[in-house]
Amino acid sequence: MNLARRSTETRTGHALVLGAGISGLCAARALSEVFDRVTLVERDTLAGDGAVRRGVPQGAHVHSLTVRGANVLEEFFPGFVGELAADGATLATALSEVEIVFFGSLLRKVPLGTVLQTSRPFLEDRLRAKVCAAPNVTLLDGREATAPLTTSDRTRVTGVRTARPGAPGSTEDIDADLVVDAMGRAGRGATWLATLGYEKPAEQRLRVDVAYASRRYRLPPGAMGPDKALLVGATPARPRGLVLTSQENGIWVLSLYGFGRAHHPPTAPDQFLLFAQELASADAREALRRAEPVTDVASFAHPHAVRRHFHRLRRLPDGLISIGDAICSLNPIYGAGMTVAALEAAALRECLLADGTRNLPRRFYRSAAKALHLSWLFSTLADKSMPQVPGTRPALSALLAQSFRATMRAAATDPKVAAAVWNAVSLTGSPAELARPHIITAMLRNWPREPAES
Ligand SMILES: Cc1cc2nc3c(=O)[nH]c(=O)nc-3n(C[C@H](O)[C@H](O)[C@H](O)COP(=O)(O)OP(=O)(O)OC[C@H]3O[C@@H](n4cnc5c(N)ncnc54)[C@H](O)[C@@H]3O)c2cc1C
Repeated sequence: MNLARRSTETRTGHALVLGAGISGLCAARALSEVFDRVTLVERDTLAGDGAVRRGVPQGAHVHSLTVRGANVLEEFFPGFVGELAADGATLATALSEVEIVFFGSLLRKVPLGTVLQTSRPFLEDRLRAKVCAAPNVTLLDGREATAPLTTSDRTRVTGVRTARPGAPGSTEDIDADLVVDAMGRAGRGATWLATLGYEKPAEQRLRVDVAYASRRYRLPPGAMGPDKALLVGATPARPRGLVLTSQENGIWVLSLYGFGRAHHPPTAPDQFLLFAQELASADAREALRRAEPVTDVASFAHPHAVRRHFHRLRRLPDGLISIGDAICSLNPIYGAGMTVAALEAAALRECLLADGTRNLPRRFYRSAAKALHLSWLFSTLADKSMPQVPGTRPALSALLAQSFRATMRAAATDPKVAAAVWNAVSLTGSPAELARPHIITAMLRNWPREPAES
C-alpha cells in the first residue's frame, strides 16, 4: 500500500466524518488526502487526557492492537509506533515476552515480531492529534449528528443535521459531498437508509453473550518476569478468559471475560480477583496479589457479534457510507475490531484514489467486505467452538474445539505451528496458513484421544 499524500491542488470538496473513534479517525486520515476539507463531528467533548470517555466505554477494557493494525497506522503516519513507544507505550516481542495460553496449551515462546501495547484512550488521543494536525482536518466535538440531509429525490446525501447533546434547539446543518458514518455498532447509518426509503442492510448476528470486567493496576517492577502480556483464552469446559497486559507508563490492565451469564466476571473487587486467580499463571497470581489498583472495576456486556451486509444492497444513495463497527462489530475477545476499522479506511483510500467518489458507496462496501471477511469468519468459527454459543450444532462445536485444541497442543512445541497461530491472531498472515500440510499433520498428531472438554 503506497500511502503518499496527494498534492493540495488535486483535492476538492468537503467530507464529513461522524464519530471520532478509531474508524472515524482512520477514515478522516484517508479522506484528508482526497478532499479539500474534512470535518470530524464527535458527540463527546474530547479532553485528550487519557480518560475513558462516555462514547467509547469499551476504552476501560484491554484494547490489543494486532501487528497488522499497527502496520496500517504506521503507513498512515510513518514513525507513529516509535513515537508512542517514546511517549511511554509498551513494545513487546511476541511470543517471547507474550505468554499465550489457548485451549489449555502455552504457545511456544519463539520471537516473531513486535507488538504495540497501550490503553485505548492513549492510542486514540495520539491518533486524533496526528489526524487533526493536517491543515485540512477540523474537529467539531461536543456535537452530535442527528439526521441526514438529502436532495429532494433522496438519491444523494448532502450533509447532516447536528445539535449539541441534550440541546435539541441548537441545531446546525453542515453540507458535505461525502458523509461517513463512523458512529459505532448502534447502526445509525443503516437506520438512516431506512428513513430515506432504502432497504436496510441484512444483519447477521451471532449471539455470544460475552461480558467483560477490567481494572487497571500498577505492578511492582519485574513482577511478571520478562512477560509483558499474558493471555489465557476460554475453553469449552471453562468458558472464561483473562488478559493482563502492560500498557503505557507502568500501568497494566487486567481484563476478564466469560461466555454466558454463569461465567460473566464479577465486579466486586474481591470476587473479581478470585475469578482472575483461577485463570492466571503462578507469576501473574503473585503479581496481582502485590498490585496496586488505580481504577475501579469497569464492566461491559457484548451480547452479540453483528455484521451488516451493505455490499449486498441493490440501491444506495450517493454521498453516504458507513465504516468500522457500524459495518461489523466482532466478538472483542479476538482483539481485531480496531484493525478491521483501519483496514477499511485503507480500502476507502484505495477506492477514492482509484476512481474518486464515482459510485463510491458500492465500490467501498465491496472492498470493506473483503477487508473484514477473514476476521469475521475466523472469529465466528472460534465462537462456534464454544457450546455456550447458541445455534451451533453440537457436533460442529465439538469438531472445531478438538481441532483448535490439537493445533494449540502442536503450537506448544512446534515453532512453525506457533508462528502460524500467531500470524492468524495478529492478522499478519491468512488463517489459511493453518491449513498447510505441515500444520495439519502436526494437528492430527496432537489430536486429543479424550472427548472435547478442556
Ligand atoms: C469490551 C471491548 C473490548 C474490545 N477490545 C478490543 C481489542 O482488544 N482490540 C481491538 O482491536 N478492538 C477491540 N474492541 C473493538 C473496538 O473497540 C472497536 O472495534 C473499534 O473501536 C472501532 O470502532 P468505531 O470507531 O467504529 O466505533 P467506536 O469506537 O464505538 O466509536 C464511535 C464514535 O462515534 C461517536 N458517536 C456516536 N454517535 C454519535 C453521533 N450521533 N454523533 C457524533 N458522534 C457519535 C462516539 O462518541 C464514538 O466516539 C473491543 C470492544 C469492546 C466492546
